[in-house]
Amino acid sequence: MSHYAVNFACMKEKIISNLRQVHQRIEDACKMSGRQRSDVTLLLAVKTVTPDLIRIAIEAGENLIGENKVQEFSAKHAALKDLTIERHFIGHLQTNKVKEVLKYVTCIQSLDRLGLAQELDRQLQKENRSIDVFIQINTSFEESKFGITPDQILPFIEQIKKYETLKIKGLMTIGLLDVEKEKMRPSLTLLREIRDLIYTQKNNNLKDLKLSMGMSQDLELAIEEGSNMVRIGTSIFGNRFLGKEIWNENLIS
Ligand SMILES: *Cc1c(COP(=O)(O)O)cnc(C)c1O
Repeated sequence: MSHYAVNFACMKEKIISNLRQVHQRIEDACKMSGRQRSDVTLLLAVKTVTPDLIRIAIEAGENLIGENKVQEFSAKHAALKDLTIERHFIGHLQTNKVKEVLKYVTCIQSLDRLGLAQELDRQLQKENRSIDVFIQINTSFEESKFGITPDQILPFIEQIKKYETLKIKGLMTIGLLDVEKEKMRPSLTLLREIRDLIYTQKNNNLKDLKLSMGMSQDLELAIEEGSNMVRIGTSIFGNRFLGKEIWNENLIS
């Protein structure tokens, strides 16, 4: 066998065993917090992951992937087009990429500003369709993260609810990541509290909003705090970066 074939067989085994572990972690976390396993969806965060490796996970039974860069969708799409995959956009979305990204995704999880909502609406109207969106909130108050600030959520919803092409399905956050577990919890709690605040408002009829939170490092905490969708990359596909600043969204977008 060629080096590639040996390497690929190894990767395949590794990814399948990683997936099993991640599902176990989700299941255990659900049990610990008395939640239904069916309340939590797994999204594969596949930035920098090549199509052959994504294919392994899809053939093992996954069906939801998230990308951070529009170019990566376009590059990988052709190689995966025989598979049934649902695609979400989870990175920072530039207004000039809206038209391109809409070719691939059923949901934008990173709606973080009015200008983006306007541009999405303009394009969707042209195409005569609507799309699911999650509002991204900066719950860690770090400059390195995108997302609207928590105190802006109610006015933001007021501004975007007039766009009938945007179906508000939930909230998304990249919580504060830290080696200390309890330092990571407040961002996650905050996202849940923001959702509950939205529910207290009578002037919008938003209900059943999903919380997209939890990554390789904070999956269990996120589920304890009510996550409905965990977005996992590293624990399935391995490390992407060697640098320290992996959580600067400016560098990965
Ligand atoms: C990369 C990424 C993830 C996955 O993070 P891991 O730590 O690799 O599991 C989740 N959400 C977003 C927005 C990402 O960019």
